[in-house]
Amino acid sequence: MEKLLICFDVDGTLIDDTVFIWQTLHDKMNTDPIEREYWANAYWTGKITYEQWAQKDVEMWIKMRVNRSHLLLAIEALKPMQGALETINILHKQSHYLGIISGSLDIALDQAIPDYKTLFDYVFLNHLVFDDADMLKGVIPTPFDIEHKASGLRKMAHELNMPMNRTVFIGDNFNDIEVAKSAGCSIAFNCKSEELASVADHVVPGPDIRAVIPIIEQYWAGVTLKAR
Ligand SMILES: [Mg+2]
Repeated sequence: MEKLLICFDVDGTLIDDTVFIWQTLHDKMNTDPIEREYWANAYWTGKITYEQWAQKDVEMWIKMRVNRSHLLLAIEALKPMQGALETINILHKQSHYLGIISGSLDIALDQAIPDYKTLFDYVFLNHLVFDDADMLKGVIPTPFDIEHKASGLRKMAHELNMPMNRTVFIGDNFNDIEVAKSAGCSIAFNCKSEELASVADHVVPGPDIRAVIPIIEQYWAGVTLKAR
């Protein structure tokens, strides 16, 4: 059976207890809520790009002289979603290509799923940059968040020479709407957005993400049958 490309969102999908890791970190770091809102509004009204927004947010932490340990301490309670490790391992053993398309930060995924780099073939997310003394010095923003998650999925499929009907996407919130529309099979898991639920092929309640496995297996059998 030919493989699928199965992609996951991170915050609220693979990681529990956070809706968006950026907010979680700002709350823990006590950054100025007015400045945060100012840059968020500037982004949502089209005055700055996503890249600039990510940089402005990280600059707030740099000004506070934040280092890697501060950030790790702030996210130490983050856990993988219930059943997430087993789900990823099962799909990995079935030899599917696995991907991450997320607006989260690499340190959060490092904390919750330390061996994610060996399990996922593609990882599109924001990367924090530290200097030799582990002081935060910048961010490499992902070009594939919000509406651009869809181009992230198309890029992965293109590189694998895989038709879009062999792609699966699992996410939980409004930033997953466009990619859910593009995927061959979309699953709204632990869903916080009515619009995502309305465009997704399947809506699966939380908290256990293993519930997506039979849906993916059924979809896999279906596309394989059609390909014969
Ligand atoms: Mg999410």
